Amino acid sequence: MTPLEDLLRTLTPPLEYLATAPSRLARSALPFRALREKLERSVAQAVDARTLATLAEVRGLLDGLDGGPAPTLAAAESAATLALQRLLELVTDLKRAPEPVAPRPVPYRSAAGPVQAQIDALKTPVQFVKGVGPKRAEQLATLGLTTVDDLLFHLPFRYEDRREVRTISMLRAGEQATIEAEIHGVQERFAGGGRRRVLEATASDASGTLTLLWYHQLTYFRSRFREGQRVLLHGKVEVPKGAARSLRLRIVHPEIEILDGQDDADTGRIVPIYTKPAGIPIGAMRRLVHSAVEQHAVRAPSALPPEVAARRGVMDLAEALRTVHQPPPEADVEALNAGTSPAHKAIVYDELFYLQLGLALRKHNVVEEPGIAFPLAAPHAARLAATLPFAFTGAQRRVIAEIERDMAAPHPMHRLVQGDVGSGKTVVALHAAAIAIDAGYQAALMAPTELLAEQHCATMRRFGQPIGLRVALLTGSVQGKLRGRTERAIARGDIDLVVGTHALIQESVAFKRLGLGIIDEQHRFGVLQRQTLKRHGTNPDILLMTATPIPRTLALTLYGDLDVSAIDELPPGRRPIVTRVFNQRQRERVLELLAHELDQGRQAYVVYPLVSESEKIDLLDATRMARELAAGPLAKYRLGLMHGQMPADEKDDVMRRFRDGDHQVLVCTTVVEVGIDVPNATVMVIEHAEHFGLAQLHQLRGRVGRGEHRSLCFLLASYAQGDQARERLRVMEETNDGFRIAEKDLELRGPGEFLGTRQSGLPDFRAANLLRDGALLRDAQEDAAAWLAVDPGLVSPASLPLRAVLEARWAGRLELARIG
Ligand code: ADP
Ligand code: MG
Repeated sequence: MTPLEDLLRTLTPPLEYLATAPSRLARSALPFRALREKLERSVAQAVDARTLATLAEVRGLLDGLDGGPAPTLAAAESAATLALQRLLELVTDLKRAPEPVAPRPVPYRSAAGPVQAQIDALKTPVQFVKGVGPKRAEQLATLGLTTVDDLLFHLPFRYEDRREVRTISMLRAGEQATIEAEIHGVQERFAGGGRRRVLEATASDASGTLTLLWYHQLTYFRSRFREGQRVLLHGKVEVPKGAARSLRLRIVHPEIEILDGQDDADTGRIVPIYTKPAGIPIGAMRRLVHSAVEQHAVRAPSALPPEVAARRGVMDLAEALRTVHQPPPEADVEALNAGTSPAHKAIVYDELFYLQLGLALRKHNVVEEPGIAFPLAAPHAARLAATLPFAFTGAQRRVIAEIERDMAAPHPMHRLVQGDVGSGKTVVALHAAAIAIDAGYQAALMAPTELLAEQHCATMRRFGQPIGLRVALLTGSVQGKLRGRTERAIARGDIDLVVGTHALIQESVAFKRLGLGIIDEQHRFGVLQRQTLKRHGTNPDILLMTATPIPRTLALTLYGDLDVSAIDELPPGRRPIVTRVFNQRQRERVLELLAHELDQGRQAYVVYPLVSESEKIDLLDATRMARELAAGPLAKYRLGLMHGQMPADEKDDVMRRFRDGDHQVLVCTTVVEVGIDVPNATVMVIEHAEHFGLAQLHQLRGRVGRGEHRSLCFLLASYAQGDQARERLRVMEETNDGFRIAEKDLELRGPGEFLGTRQSGLPDFRAANLLRDGALLRDAQEDAAAWLAVDPGLVSPASLPLRAVLEARWAGRLELARIG
């Protein structure tokens, strides 16, 4: 604690107390003596004039309050009140005062030689690092560390503050401590009345001895030590439990680092801790990275445009790498551990800048390709607005305008429309299709499943046929003569809008003139399918639609090469889905509520989670539950079962029967489709809701609330009193806003979990963390876009280093795509 912090800590509480009720004012309320002492120490250490002046004023006020002749009571009171107010202002001001040690600005030293040579040098295999032989190289490869570059950017996952290594005699029970000691007398013995084997050892230094104790992996730990070996120990110091068998303090399962005579540098400083391959001791790992840094950090390509580096105040990579791997003694350990130190920021910013530059470039390349400039004076599109039984919402109108602007441009559109379930994306897509069709082109809508394709087709026909659009369905189930006829009609141009599954992009399907490809739930489709759809037309416009709201930081990373629109408003009159969390014990009551709705003629979903990643358990549980419900609480009703292990056509069949009302209750796993529309389904029960992410719960919940009736969603969860799970689920009760829920979910679970690892498509960051670095990401995006605006092809001399690093990064780590 600095003297100033100390002063403020003493001064603030009584001031705040007095300020709430000046009438309590008594001279004795302030600890004047202590304050004066602390004040003088602060003055002695103050580094800037402003702080000094403020402190002088504080001193004056304290003098006025303490001592001096006693004035009349009223005068004293008002003077004191004023003085206190001023003091409080000053204290607030002081708290904002600059850090005592102003961070020294580190200049950005741009790469000296040709950047490409530096990049190539960093691709040197790890063997060429001092201390790495073939064996070590093999071990490092198990962590994917094969080049010097890999080692340099293998950042510590934690830092240990060993600036103060203590002696054993200084230790107190209850504290976390790091000590350097020798190991003696390692032996197994029986504890707990002879029932349990433990491993025990004595650690000693010149000042005393300490017991070390292991309960697990005894053989392993016993094999690690030699008599008299020097080690660094870290752990919580404890007093032995029970009768004082020994008066010595002890550490149970200490973290241990064996000192082998070369590690003297690892005490008395802030020590980086690395993930390491099995077989490399922690100290050796540190030395390897250390020599990589010593030998090669200078070659890290610091190629940011100097003005960008200056604007963001980042240091060059060489300096940043040296600092994160070998923090100076005065470094802020907390910031290092949080990954927010200036050095971390420099590395993260550098990484994000090239990510955004690559994304922006890719987008720019697409945008620059020749495409179709659709005329906007489109009669069908105009008629659509006039014949729809409702008016577009403000959000729909805004997104339509964004789409129109893209479509009118002579380059291909690449736009993603995000909108909650029921926000009306389909009619927006139809509007876009009408524009393309009016220009003499065809449009295609691709959905992830047959059922969704059928549903979209029905919607497109309902609203499209009245304005004269010819709509056809093309899925795997369209076969035989009908398929042949449909394909020929598409090829002749007799179909305006084809709705289908990926059957649409098969070889046998040839469009006469595809102008617009619409992809629903695009996260289920790979980039490849997007590309294939593009092959069916001469650079058609592409419109992607998703009901999964993605927070902005993620969207920037994931869809940096797309333009993103959000339909963030639901059509009027939608009633929010009433959501309630129930404890598992209230299950019977929940099923009664569900039965009540069924008795009113409504339908229901009962959803079971993938309790584990195993599809087998998933199957077992949903099946077992369907049986149990059919035998007991819901015996009166017609139940259907759907799970992930069913063949697609069986799933579609069950879903159709539910849609047609044959099944009153659909017991299912999460396979129940995104966007499926059964307006009569008004209840959803989600079992074991605590196993789901919030975004997924929201997605599931969107299956109800699609009709005229009020809808209910019951989340059954196991939780204890005051449990976090309950708090998390409360969000679902509080809001129906998908974007808010997504933000919350991202915050709670992190990007990988949020997106689900299998389809995340997130680049593999070396230093960046999207949750922590959202602000840096936005800065990087802004800077990258600004740079490309000036030099779109990255061809100016100033851009050449950027291009070199960009190509190395995208090829090596980001693996998103080749830059065109
Ligand atoms: P999404 O695809 O975004 O889930 P849909 O396009 O299927 O949503 O629309 C959901 C329902 O709302 C459909 O029945 C659709 O006809 C209707 N709808 C769409 N836009 C509006 C609007 N502006 N006003 C009223 N109803 C609308
Ligand atoms: Mg839709």
